Amino acid sequence: MKCEEMLAVLNDYVDGGIDPAVCREFEQHMAGCNPCQVVVDNIRKTITLYQAGRPYELPAPFRNRLHESLRRRWKETHGSNPK
Ligand SMILES: [Zn+2]
Repeated sequence: MKCEEMLAVLNDYVDGGIDPAVCREFEQHMAGCNPCQVVVDNIRKTITLYQAGRPYELPAPFRNRLHESLRRRWKETHGSNPK
């Protein structure tokens, strides 16, 4: 799995499509890629704070902000714009 593929998975995660914790390839990539770890930690923390333990769907404006934040963190940690 490449970093760009991680980003695609994370975008789905923000939209509530998948749980990255159950994706094995995702975990394997994370184990060896520090920039991706930083981005994923950041996104997970933001979602956890918002939900405060209650698993419900995130509202669209919040998801849009998360997508923006995801792209920004990605650029900071990977030194390039996501494709
Ligand atoms: Zn990576």
